[in-house]
Amino acid sequence: MKIAVINSGSSSVKFKLFDMPSANVIRDEFVEHIGEPNSPIQNHYEAIKSLHVNFADIDAVGHRVVHGGEKFRNSVLIDDEVMEAIKDLIPLAPLHNPANLEGIKVVCQKAANIPQIAVFDTAFHTTLSKEAFVYALPYEMYEKNKIRRYGFHGTSHAYLLQEAATLLKKKVQETNIITLHLGNGASACAIKNGKSCDTSMGFTPLEGLVMGTRCGDIDPAIVLFMQNELDLSADEVDALLNKKSGLLGLCGENDVRNIERRKDDKAKLALDIMVRRIQKYIGAYMIVLEDVDAVVFSGGIGENSLYVRERVMNNKILKNIKSLVIKTDEELQIAHECLGVLKE
Ligand code: AMP
Repeated sequence: MKIAVINSGSSSVKFKLFDMPSANVIRDEFVEHIGEPNSPIQNHYEAIKSLHVNFADIDAVGHRVVHGGEKFRNSVLIDDEVMEAIKDLIPLAPLHNPANLEGIKVVCQKAANIPQIAVFDTAFHTTLSKEAFVYALPYEMYEKNKIRRYGFHGTSHAYLLQEAATLLKKKVQETNIITLHLGNGASACAIKNGKSCDTSMGFTPLEGLVMGTRCGDIDPAIVLFMQNELDLSADEVDALLNKKSGLLGLCGENDVRNIERRKDDKAKLALDIMVRRIQKYIGAYMIVLEDVDAVVFSGGIGENSLYVRERVMNNKILKNIKSLVIKTDEELQIAHECLGVLKE
């Protein structure tokens, strides 16, 4: 069975065509710089139209959809109602859900009858308990405004769980691990008995670990100070926290390969802050889980940086915990999800 996977980011589209269940990759394409000045591709619609693929030859298409809110706890077959629900969630993911919808619409146009499946980044974390997902704000902010922890990177954490369980020779539902997806975006997840029970990203992907250009956890009063005392507009603060902070803000660049090579104080401090934050989350999640089978490193940094892995695990409390390195594969996980939905 041929399953295509469309993973639309805010300015890129990753496309993979799998033969399933063998998981062989038949085609692999990547379109980037969407919407940037001078780019020939100005939107996601054009990007997906530019892919060298005949959708009529494909059995099903899986789409990564960033935000499924509280509604989508599992992957689903896409129909008009599902598309409407993804649209309703746009205020929670203004950059991503519209791009995901564009992908679905192009496939509808090119091959109207092909089954399309939505796989949500948030779905894996819908097992969080209220004590993990409700913020200590007035409770009606959750009830009325749906302000809560959603968590992201769920497809990656779910894939890492499956692979880790195999390596640990454990049943998924008996696996207790801390997964670290450390890429340009980064998140940690505490998985108890095969279910996400806490995760570092929150209402948006801004919370938690120090990322390439996102600050992760900060005192929320800093935002007010920036607006009231530094006269920054809401848009300026948004750009500062999401695009100019993290490793980039600390030392001027966000590629850990380069930062590791540098010998200056700012580069060293940036890595120290990033490592300390990761360790703090591991420590917190060890308390949440009580039993930890392994800490799993993944994402561009987690998979490739021995330096970061060693720095993180070089700690008296962590030294007896097993660590695993697993290359994540969100597209393959989406293809597996599609198979699961089609079998239902
Ligand atoms: P991702 O978002 O998962 O593609 O991860 C991208 C990030 O991984 C890059 O920005 C680098 O910081 C990091 N990275 C990739 N390769 C290496 C490497 N060999 N050593 C350290 N960091 C790396």
